[in-house]
Amino acid sequence: MTTIIDGNAIADRITADVESCATTLSEAGVKPGLATVLMSDDGASETYVSMKQEACEEIGIEGFHYEIDPDAPATALFERIDDLNTDPSVHGILVQLPLPDHVSKEAVLSRIDPMKDVDGFHPENVGRLVAGNARYKPCTPHGVQKILAAEGIATEGADVVVVGRSDIVGKPMANLLLQYGEGGNATVTVCHSRTADLAAKTRAADILIAAAGVPEMIDGSMLSEGVAVIDVGINRVEADAEKGYELVGDVDFESAKGKASAITPVPGGVGPLTIAMLMYNTAKAASLQSGVDVDLP
Ligand code: NAD
Repeated sequence: MTTIIDGNAIADRITADVESCATTLSEAGVKPGLATVLMSDDGASETYVSMKQEACEEIGIEGFHYEIDPDAPATALFERIDDLNTDPSVHGILVQLPLPDHVSKEAVLSRIDPMKDVDGFHPENVGRLVAGNARYKPCTPHGVQKILAAEGIATEGADVVVVGRSDIVGKPMANLLLQYGEGGNATVTVCHSRTADLAAKTRAADILIAAAGVPEMIDGSMLSEGVAVIDVGINRVEADAEKGYELVGDVDFESAKGKASAITPVPGGVGPLTIAMLMYNTAKAASLQSGVDVDLP
């Protein structure tokens, strides 16, 4: 029997806890605030930002949203970030990636006040994560950790193979799994586009985490019996559907399901957790900045 992991249900439970923290903060006079900034015409980015704003509204976080013309100079974005850094009603700042080519991602991420960096991408927060003293864990890898915990999939001593080494998913995922303590203590292999004989690596996994951004590149033949499969990939592929596309993961769900003990679907797997953990980080940011204690799980 393969468990099809219900990411929405896990995210709902976390969101309910975050909502109660948001209420505690608001009752203490600190309504958590999240600012999203979009400098892109990309449809997927627009969708992600509006989902994040909707989540804020649902759980009592004040959402602020700013759009910057993708052709504007980088200084337009820098000035917006500077304003948000000093705005006391904003506890978290999220600049939606990717950015236009003429805007340096590194310069943008370094400009955000690390206390308001709810994505956890500022070099100070990356350093803290690597050192085992994370302030804000990056949302998607943190969400994967929450899925594994919710499903009782132990990481301690497990051989975990992460496919992808991006700064947003692959690297922080590997770092979280390497840490001492709950959700860590794994033996981690990180694979990427230059990895030789990927299938040999993925077949050795007790837990496979796919974050390559290549539609259905991992199929059942690359997996061992009983593996737990977490598919982070969200890829738009052409389809007859009303929108003209459908979403698929990096894993070929049907063939992988035949081998896996548990597997996340796309959509409805990791995606909902990413948003839930962003809300979590925003409540944490409001708590850290105000000194009002909350009981985040
Ligand atoms: P990215 O393009 O920045 O990184 C992809 C990584 O995969 C790279 O390190 C690359 O070396 C590796 N890779 C690419 N092709 C490969 C191959 N053939 N074999 C082995 N490794 C290969 O992407 P990203 O931002 O890390 O996102 C990865 C995927 O996860 C995308 O589909 C993205 O849409 C999705 N994503 C989902 C969520 C979510 O909430 N579920 C959040 C972030 C990203």
